[in-house]
Amino acid sequence: MTVYLDHNASTPVADEVLEAMLPYLVERFGNPSSRHGWGREARAAVEHAREQVAALLNVQASQVVFTSGATEANNLAIKGWCGADEAGCLAVGATEHPSVLAPALARRRLGSEVEILPVDSQGKMDLSALESSLARGVRMVSVMLANNETGVIQDIHAISDRAREYGACVHSDAAQAVGKIEVDFAASGVDMMSLSAHKFFGPKGAGALVVDKSVDLDPLLHGGGQERGMRAGTENVAAVVGFGAAAELALRRIRATQARIQALRDYLEARLHQLEGVVVFAAEAPRLPNTVCMALPGLDGETAVMLLDEAGIAVSSGSSCSSGDTEPSHVLMAMGVEAEEARCAMRVSLGPGNSQADVDALICALERQLYHPASPPGTRLSAMM
Ligand code: PMP
Repeated sequence: MTVYLDHNASTPVADEVLEAMLPYLVERFGNPSSRHGWGREARAAVEHAREQVAALLNVQASQVVFTSGATEANNLAIKGWCGADEAGCLAVGATEHPSVLAPALARRRLGSEVEILPVDSQGKMDLSALESSLARGVRMVSVMLANNETGVIQDIHAISDRAREYGACVHSDAAQAVGKIEVDFAASGVDMMSLSAHKFFGPKGAGALVVDKSVDLDPLLHGGGQERGMRAGTENVAAVVGFGAAAELALRRIRATQARIQALRDYLEARLHQLEGVVVFAAEAPRLPNTVCMALPGLDGETAVMLLDEAGIAVSSGSSCSSGDTEPSHVLMAMGVEAEEARCAMRVSLGPGNSQADVDALICALERQLYHPASPPGTRLSAMM
């Protein structure tokens, strides 16, 4: 693999992050709950990482609950939320990640009323539909900060302002936003926020739910009372240390990398528009600076991924979390995209290590597919249907 353009799926562990982690995989192996020196050393490392993560989001360290990633953080927020009466009416955006949608539907099976909030053709939350849901008695709203497939950034301030008027709690899945754009928990007005270390050069298997003190949550895991009783289990010390180091790195680098990646994305889109019939989804919406979700006419997204892989270029078709799933993306369908066009969707997500040469390589490979395909377009499309 020579050109990696799938940074929304995962990122490599940064050198500084690995260096910070290694001692905690070897000689500093203590259990943070132990009272002796080894334990105190591990505890200090976990608490230092908590400070680093808190600094990235402008929160107090005591608000950070470490989890195994954003999937667990989202499950904890949705299933653990107990701020309402028994029925617990909640609403989630139609374009949420499956790790928000699935626990919401699990709650519905247990008797909660769950509403799905629509988005417009650009993937932005319909604020009037949100208002109606709140007026009908929704007590908790979960809306992602940035979408993993399209990169669309929601106006989370406006959403939390509306929710606050009705006294509802707001959770935001910020797994794709953190590390790519500046995220300020306090300024956003939300009550809970999920994040994941491997999306910004930290290790896999580490994440957090940031929780405002006013929120009443039931833990998913009961046991030894770690994480102030919110998440039992011996802390994954090395991963947590790596998460903290990645947060510090992101805080230091975000402004510079954001501008550079955005310029590269603009270059990519300009080149894409020179190709015949290319559609860029949510082009009018505020988006993450690194993400382009597009469709090439007649070229099925899954096929495009495989053909580009053969050319040494890694991209994704829709959400990487649902790859293997031949259904068109629920995100694009919620935006009103026709199923046939949605099946042609392909996501390119840039990272700080990418260059103009990488984008040129992608364009060149796409041109080959569009204008000089190895097989006729009909077979390319039907191969994946
Ligand atoms: N939410 C979003 C928006 C994501 O993109 C992802 C990862 N694809 C997750 C949640 C799940 O994160 P994790 O891999 O840490 O479980």
